[in-house]
Order: sequence, then structure tokens, then C-alpha cells
Amino acid sequence: MELLERRLLTKVARASQDWAMLEAGDRVLVAMSGGKDSFVMFHLLRALQRRTPFPFELLPVHLDQHQPGFDSGVLARWFEAEGVAHRILSVDTYSIVAAHTPPGKPACSMCSRLRRGILYSAALELGCTKIALGHHRDDAIETLLLNQLYAGQLKAMPPRLRSDDGRNVVIRPLAYCAEADIAALATHLAFPTQPCTVCSQQPDLKRARVKALIDALGDEIPHVRSSLFAALGNVRATHLFDTSLREALDLDAVRADDDTAAALGASCSS
Ligand code: SF4
Repeated sequence: MELLERRLLTKVARASQDWAMLEAGDRVLVAMSGGKDSFVMFHLLRALQRRTPFPFELLPVHLDQHQPGFDSGVLARWFEAEGVAHRILSVDTYSIVAAHTPPGKPACSMCSRLRRGILYSAALELGCTKIALGHHRDDAIETLLLNQLYAGQLKAMPPRLRSDDGRNVVIRPLAYCAEADIAALATHLAFPTQPCTVCSQQPDLKRARVKALIDALGDEIPHVRSSLFAALGNVRATHLFDTSLREALDLDAVRADDDTAAALGASCSS
């Protein structure tokens, strides 16, 4: 298990380096949902904090959204036992989501939008320079496929993002970590995780479909998850159809080169 923890830590450190996630003087609001991803993220960030040669602060924050069956006291007691300064916020977003989500429709998109807005404001009030979210590699590749299959867009989930109003920076320290590794470490460390009861009653069927699709592909292509993940960092913009990139990336010059190469290829084969 030490090996697994070290592997995950290396991935968090690399993601942080690649995307300047952690910088000297940062005060990072660590969003703690109470699920396995947030516990592992906080655990790894603390480990990194002990090893990093520059100082930064971590402030775990849990937003109690009044989800039925969820006990925020579990998290509060865990923080206290660990001797960690933290904040528990309480806003009943559940009633809003329940009132506006038709039966059978997924609750997650409105729920997470409301939560994000509250966390963005809290980060500013608490003097935090960044907000760390627990999305991982598998969230990113599922989002990539979801957007392609259902929304006609080629986009995933950025490891680092500045909010539209420019006031918040969101980071995803687990962006390079596989969900299976995170789950294994969470079980090993016996974090007191609690599943969300709302999304188990009103699941996101499209996301579940994409997860099942990737799993099924995995039977034929064992490295399918790593390959989709690698694709996120290996973009050939010249070989896509987005005309808005033409000027931005000076694609006409590239096309001219491609045409020349194609003409040369044709003359060789004739
Ligand atoms: S899993 Fe979905 S419904 Fe549950 S807290 Fe997260 S976003 Fe909200």
C-alpha cells in the first residue's frame, strides 16, 4: 500500500508542477464532500505539504447541503480527531434541487452548480487563493466522451481553471490519478466516507452509460483508460475541424505544408 500511496503522491506532485497548482503563499480551500475522492485528495495534499520546499496552507471546507441521510458530524469529528482547522458551511441546496429536478432526471448538475457558487464565494471570504476539487482521471475521460457523444463538443475537465469572473482559481490535484487507485487507498486508510444518497436515487444515466461503455471497451482494449487519458494531453489541433482555430494557430501555414507533403506522397506513389 505504501507503493500505491507513493504512486498517487507522485501523480499529484506532477500534476501540480505541470499546472502550477500549488504555489508559495497559496491558501487552498480543499472542497470536502465526504466521499472517497475528497478524503484522498486532502490526505495527499497534506503529505505534499510536508515535502514541498515552499509554504502553502490547506483549509478543508465541507458544505452541508442538507442531503437526506448525510451526517456532516462524521466529517467534523474526523477533522477534530486529526487536529485540522476546517470549516463546515450549511446551506440547504437540497430543497432547491428537489423542487426543480423532475422525477427521474439527474440531480447532479444543478446540485454541483449551486455548490460551486457557494464555494467560490466562501473562498473569497476565507481569503483562499485556490479551490481544490477532487475530480480524477476517470472523471476527465468520462467527461471527454460525454461531451463528444451527447453535446458535440471536444472538451474534458481542466486541471486548472480560472473562473469566468476571474476571481477564483480551481485546481484538480487528482487529475492524473486513477479512480481505482483512489478507492483502494481510501479503503486502506479507512476514511469515514459517506455516499451521496441523492444521486443513487436520481443517477446521471448518461454518465453511467459512458462508464459502462468504457468498462466494456476495457475487455477488448485493456489500456483504454490510459489511452483516453493520454489523448487529453496529446492534441493535434491541425487535425480537427474547428475553423476558429485557423487564425489562432496559424493553421493555413500548416495546411500548406500538409498539401506539399501530400503532393510529394502522391508523386512518389505514381
Ligand atoms: S453526487 Fe450529485 S447529487 Fe450528490 S452531492 Fe454530488 S452533485 Fe450533488
